[in-house]
Amino acid sequence: MCVFDEFNVQRVINCSGKMTYLGSSILSDKVRKAMDEAGTSYVQMEELMDRAGEVIADYCRSEAARVCAGASAGIIISVAAAITGGDERLVEEVPYVSVKRKKIIIACAHQIDFGAPIRQMIALGGGEMVSVGTVNRCYPWHYEKAIDADTAAILYVKSHHAVQTDQVALADVITLAHKHQLPLILDAAAEEDITKYIEMGCDLVIYSGAKALEGPTSGLIAGRKTLIQACRKQSKGVARAMKVGKENIFGLLAAIKQYGSHSSAMQRQIVDAIVEELKSVKGLTVSVAKDHAGREIYRAKLEVDETVCGMNALMLDQQLRNGSPIIYTRNHNANLGILLLDPRPMQLSDTAIVCQRIKEILAVSL
Ligand SMILES: *Cc1c(COP(=O)(O)O)cnc(C)c1O
Repeated sequence: MCVFDEFNVQRVINCSGKMTYLGSSILSDKVRKAMDEAGTSYVQMEELMDRAGEVIADYCRSEAARVCAGASAGIIISVAAAITGGDERLVEEVPYVSVKRKKIIIACAHQIDFGAPIRQMIALGGGEMVSVGTVNRCYPWHYEKAIDADTAAILYVKSHHAVQTDQVALADVITLAHKHQLPLILDAAAEEDITKYIEMGCDLVIYSGAKALEGPTSGLIAGRKTLIQACRKQSKGVARAMKVGKENIFGLLAAIKQYGSHSSAMQRQIVDAIVEELKSVKGLTVSVAKDHAGREIYRAKLEVDETVCGMNALMLDQQLRNGSPIIYTRNHNANLGILLLDPRPMQLSDTAIVCQRIKEILAVSL
């Protein structure tokens, strides 16, 4: 009997993606071992946090870095760092900081909900959000005209959640921020590349430890030394409520160490197996689809022909989710008749089970 059964919690087969609400990641043996060992001893937490920051900065090729509880915490802490500069008195005032310079500029297209609205993270860090542009269009002058003496930072979101249509490229916003001596904070929570954005010149870059990195629930902020020092100071303020346990810090370190050694060949094997298994199913058009935000991720794409299948993609998705085992697909475009199966959170052995369930459901509806 395992803990899932003991507490009567249902397991999920995840073909959806690195979703926080599904437990983010399955942990490798190395990561679990590191977490297990971390639980066997006491440690001075600030020493561990500082040392972890140095190790992570090496991997990210940044001046410095700081572990945090998740990317959402990273946004709060980064905003607080930009506004307070780490001043002890101001740190204790967050989120109601008694300075005028606390405006955080963010494009409309970047005001996402990743499970909670990013606007709320800005507010928790003491920021006053200033919207620029429109959802489907933003020009550099939108940013330029919004900048004034009360601006503390520009926040940019690199994510499939953000609207991509006619927005200002990250490189251009970095240039613009630096022209006005403002820090550029990047939310790169689910991004795969942990060096690229630092290299481009972002001042703080935030990643989720549990998404691409496949670590335990955690996050990291990489960037300039002075700003990371200001982030560090927040542990005596708002970041206290978002502290990270020693197990998760060691788990994140183990995850970042083995990051990159993960085989994209295995992912491709899963996708190819799904396509092969489902291609003969009537009413389904199955293909391999590259990530629409341009990342090197390939997924199995199922297009459901309602007239042949007797059900649409939304209904198929519902039945997969309500069945046993519970199966979550990547269903952002289910209303367009499309379901994606994401190989990253899947195990090879899941493939046959998922294909079998899809065939069963469609067979019954015929
Ligand atoms: C997932 C996500 C977050 C939140 O990350 P957590 O680690 O769950 O706090 C923030 N921003 C974006 C773009 C995300 O995808």
